[in-house]
Amino acid sequence: MLNFAYMRFKDIVGQRDLINHLTEIIDSGHVSHAQLFLGENGYGSMAMAVAYAQYLNCQNRQHYAAGAELRADSCGECPNCKKYQQLSHSDLHLFFPTNTNKSVKKDPTSDQFATEFREFMLEKGQYASLDQWYDYIGLDNKQGFISKDDAREIVRTLGLKPYEQAYKVVVVWMAEQIDAKVAGGVLLKMLEEPLGSTLILLVVENRERLLSTILSRTQLVRVGKIDNKSLQQALERETGQPVPADLVAASEGNLLTALNNLTQSGEQKHMGEIFVDWMRMLFKLNMAQLSEWVDSMAKQTREQQKSFLQYALDAVRACYLKTSAGLELSYKLQFGDEKFNASFSTFVTNNNIELLMKAFDDAILAVSRNGNGKILFMELSFSISKALKKR
Ligand SMILES: [Zn+2]
Repeated sequence: MLNFAYMRFKDIVGQRDLINHLTEIIDSGHVSHAQLFLGENGYGSMAMAVAYAQYLNCQNRQHYAAGAELRADSCGECPNCKKYQQLSHSDLHLFFPTNTNKSVKKDPTSDQFATEFREFMLEKGQYASLDQWYDYIGLDNKQGFISKDDAREIVRTLGLKPYEQAYKVVVVWMAEQIDAKVAGGVLLKMLEEPLGSTLILLVVENRERLLSTILSRTQLVRVGKIDNKSLQQALERETGQPVPADLVAASEGNLLTALNNLTQSGEQKHMGEIFVDWMRMLFKLNMAQLSEWVDSMAKQTREQQKSFLQYALDAVRACYLKTSAGLELSYKLQFGDEKFNASFSTFVTNNNIELLMKAFDDAILAVSRNGNGKILFMELSFSISKALKKR
């Protein structure tokens, strides 16, 4: 459902001021040949670099009326744009960290992973993380790096004439993974050469890890956090559902974090439904239903049991804070409808909060010790039911 793979400037989340600044520079013709796009990938640093290169090469740049959100964008229709959107333009060269895996046994280079990288970016979107990439190519616990062979290939590529009537663009994703000792020197030498109609765009998350000499030879494009409003709009557009403001705020301007929070919040919602059903059974003392429920919980993995119990503990604590201190429930704990939450909260008071929390804590411990699931959830149900009566 969520994509963010085909990026014109308009598809980038937020960052409007930066985009307008960049298109203005390109339109004025003062393009710097070595640029450093600095910012977490979840802020859109890679998406920005690629959209930048696409705009530069677009044969029919669009300009919009004054007051529009974007002053300009690539057309998305010309042959260059079409190829850029598939990351398959013959004058776009992508370099990125790699390592050996099941199919590449030694001397890994970007070229050997070119197809996988393109598929990865189109499938996972340009906001995807380095860890996702490593998982995608099955590096297991190994870290990737940009090799000396890659650095040489970058230099060679930069020296070639463009195939088509276009700027040739070299994008180095996560350039701080360049093996500084062996490859840094090669790259430095290249940054000193005049580059003609060729650009090198370094996409970097962590500038401390990049050689200061490389830093000083590039023009810095700082890609900052995405503003909350744009982030919220993008998530709502993609999911077709309202997204809680505190989920957006907890994502700290990072689209990838926001997407992860959304996935988790889906799981939490499911646990919330189980929690509400359970509490209703306890209030009604419906033994037939309860015993079915206990059976289904006992069948879950220990990790699932633990995360449900932790969820229930958090839910009860949040209810207590709601009644005692008037604190609202966070997006992570949207378990019941308003009516259920309001009435359930009145059952959690000073008289039983400690009993309730201890019951959940004990149950979590028992799961860790591999206690019998059926007995454990049945006993817990009785403890909770008893404690709720003491409000
Ligand atoms: Zn175009």
